[in-house]
Amino acid sequence: MKAFRIPEVHSQKLMPLRFRELDGRVLLTNDAGEHVWLERDEFGDFLAGTLAEDGPIFGKLQKNNFVRQPDSEKAVMDKLHRRSDHLLQGPNLHIVILTLRCNQNCVYCHASRKPQKSKGFDMSIETAARVLDVIFQSPSDELTIEFQGGEPALNFDVLRYFVEEAYRRNKDVGRQLYFSLVSNLSALNQEQIDFLVDNGVMVCTSIDGPQELHDHNRRFSKKSSYLEALGRIEQFNEAYRKRELDPELAYVNALATVSRSALADPKALVDEYVRLGHKVVHLRPLNPFGMGLKIWSREGYTAGEFLKFYEQALDYIIELNKQGVEIMEKMASIMLTRILTDENPNYMDLRSPCGAGLGQLAYNHDGRVYTCDEGRMVGAMGDDLFCIGDVHQDGYSDIIQHQGVRTLCVASCIEGLPGCSDCAYVPYCGVCPVYNYIMEGDLVARSSSNDRCRIQKGMLDMLFLRLREPGLHDLLSRWTETKDRSSVYSRKT
Ligand code: SF4
Ligand code: SF4
Repeated sequence: MKAFRIPEVHSQKLMPLRFRELDGRVLLTNDAGEHVWLERDEFGDFLAGTLAEDGPIFGKLQKNNFVRQPDSEKAVMDKLHRRSDHLLQGPNLHIVILTLRCNQNCVYCHASRKPQKSKGFDMSIETAARVLDVIFQSPSDELTIEFQGGEPALNFDVLRYFVEEAYRRNKDVGRQLYFSLVSNLSALNQEQIDFLVDNGVMVCTSIDGPQELHDHNRRFSKKSSYLEALGRIEQFNEAYRKRELDPELAYVNALATVSRSALADPKALVDEYVRLGHKVVHLRPLNPFGMGLKIWSREGYTAGEFLKFYEQALDYIIELNKQGVEIMEKMASIMLTRILTDENPNYMDLRSPCGAGLGQLAYNHDGRVYTCDEGRMVGAMGDDLFCIGDVHQDGYSDIIQHQGVRTLCVASCIEGLPGCSDCAYVPYCGVCPVYNYIMEGDLVARSSSNDRCRIQKGMLDMLFLRLREPGLHDLLSRWTETKDRSSVYSRKT
């Protein structure tokens, strides 16, 4: 197909817009996140100022703020303001690395993992208290403390301290508090599970697919990591049932890290989630952070390979929806929320600027603070470029004013970046300076279309094309309706 030739543009009536040709038609987007599809000749007429102003196409463009009118700038500004409200909140996601030790040995695990019996890799109570000092200095009305590792449950006493002490401190300030534990679950006993349920700690684990695939990826000496995870999930469900919590809200989240071995059979992975009763499957591509080249060359894959897998999985999930099975894909749900609503899912990696420092902070077990967990993983490889302080000597304002936060902010403001600034997907996308640094040695991507960009562009292409298909707009719109689970998982006191 011949590339579109831009005619002489009569810009007086045009609002700022970006466009992308897709499957023979032209997709227009604007900073408010609105979009309109045009035929090529309609787009040419619009740019040239010859599109009939009393016709339906012009009306559609007017309605969606592509035509300059007295109130269109204000309308775009108001929507942009709503879509960017994360910028005014301060960091609300606080990732705490309770330990680097882990009892499993996943094939794609990053370099910072230490064997279970190692010494010197757990966060102490004293460091935890300093971490809480910083967290409570953040101005955000909502605070999410997310426990990660290694396997964070191996340092459960400090997890318990965090939860109890945070609730105690919060009595004076009344923030909306959330806790989340990212765990393989296998180290948890019944008493610990009861503590997590009673204290509203949300739990997220990994299910990489059917047992054979999961056990292959997530190696656990002499045991099946799959059966361990499923057994603990059932214990959680039983604990939720005993407390008569709504099963639509109280459940263990799961995500699938898509390994090279998963690529061959997307249906089997989706079927496993359906079989286990999950209503969301999160298909997360492998990323190279902290992994080391050796593991990446063994386990990694190209953007094209991932997209082929993703497209098959997406179409299969859509097919299941048509048959009445309730299940959605998480990344698609986040992107569709950006495309179809003015809601801001505030996903740290799909926003501009990204969440580094401004939306999240990551606290290493030893008290060093990083812009994000991915920056912390780079630190574990011996490069502290993304370290922005230490809780033993720095307060919140020292950390947040560190030049690293400003640098990552500038490097991830997508609207001004080469390669991105004129991409139609700017309102729905985000770049990752840590990824760029790892893959290309620079915070700003040297090639405008690295694999991360290709994956995001490919996923957005798939979603926009499917939104145009008869009957799919309504079906996919339902994926933007996520349930508010704060009645189970959030407390003010
Ligand atoms: S990262 Fe890629 S898809 Fe996203 S806005 Fe930039 S160029 Fe577009
Ligand atoms: S630097 Fe990358 S990983 Fe860190 S918050 Fe930004 S997008 Fe996410």
